[in-house]
Amino acid sequence: MTMVRLLWLLLIAFLVYKLIQSLRHLSGRRAAKADHRGGQGEELVRDPHCGAYFPQSEGVSAVIDGEKHHFCGPECRDKFLHKK
Ligand SMILES: [Zn+2]
Repeated sequence: MTMVRLLWLLLIAFLVYKLIQSLRHLSGRRAAKADHRGGQGEELVRDPHCGAYFPQSEGVSAVIDGEKHHFCGPECRDKFLHKK
């Protein structure tokens, strides 16, 4: 009798584990999808300093030599400006 009970416990534990895994998998996929679309389907721009891609509205922009550049943050903008 105790052996059967143990098997049931193992089965339930396994099912709970599987359920948690599938839930994690679903939320992970949703986050990845949102990332790929860049939030609201916005166009992604590339930071010329660190090479990161991000939605245009999330970064900062600077006009250098008459050309507009987009950076992921003020740190990258400043570093890019100092490098010039
Ligand atoms: Zn950057």
